[in-house]
Amino acid sequence: MQDFTTKTELVAYLSKIAKEKTIGFIPTMGALHQGHLSLIEESKEKCDITICSIFVNPTQFNNERDLVNYPNTINADLEKLEELSCNVVYIPAIEDLYENKETAKTFDFNSLTTSMEGKFRPGHFIGMATIVEKLFNIIQPTIAFFGQKDLQQLQIVKALVKQMKSTIKIEGMPTIREKNGLAKSSRNKLLSESAKKEAALIYSCLYYCKNNKKKGITELKYHIQNQFEQHKNLKLEYAEIVALNTMQPIEGWQRENENAICIAAYHSGVRLIDNIIL
Ligand code: AMP
Repeated sequence: MQDFTTKTELVAYLSKIAKEKTIGFIPTMGALHQGHLSLIEESKEKCDITICSIFVNPTQFNNERDLVNYPNTINADLEKLEELSCNVVYIPAIEDLYENKETAKTFDFNSLTTSMEGKFRPGHFIGMATIVEKLFNIIQPTIAFFGQKDLQQLQIVKALVKQMKSTIKIEGMPTIREKNGLAKSSRNKLLSESAKKEAALIYSCLYYCKNNKKKGITELKYHIQNQFEQHKNLKLEYAEIVALNTMQPIEGWQRENENAICIAAYHSGVRLIDNIIL
């Protein structure tokens, strides 16, 4: 595996790759787990060259403590990438991607950014889009792989590529979970074993919605609130049933697979998100 810390070196390497080779790209913030690795594996299957970036992007953090506490397991990450025969890892310093004092760009993604993560993490998505656009421009992948775990992010990246008038294909991949249903997440490393057990409530609420669509949206949201009230270590931030194309709350079901139930909740100060498409 080749590793690069500057975009200049990476671009020099990319310029030597034959034009007909396909490039798969997986942007990450490190602390890699099976969720990330499933994206690498898919890219290895589908593309000639697989590139993973590891960069904790400061402009997408609206909470300084979250940024400072973000787990860093770089040596283990490199071993995992090596094991999967990832071809390239790009691990830039902040200065390689941001000019001095540069902040996030402005974007307009309409309704996609105003609900849920956009509402509770102001600035998060423009920070995310800023870095993803930069990485796409440097790497110019054939396919970029993103997890459905971050569903709103996935929809925004698809919109970003359209706005960029880019040919990059965005592939959304299923959420990888722990045995108890808890979605794998780098932030899970900050949870105790008992917290991880309790946090499985998020998945059981999502799963309940999947199996009880007939009860209707109001009743399902009420069920979730009720469940969280009974589990005092978990604090529900939102539970929203949204249309996939707008990411806005709906009052009645759209067609099969065009709705999603999305939850954000805290356990011991750690923020967890998850969703299921309905
Ligand atoms: P992150 O390092 O959290 O920025 O995530 C990098 C990529 O991995 C994003 O596209 C995420 O959606 C994806 N990802 C994170 N967790 C999972 C998971 N449990 N299953 C599948 N993909 C995931």
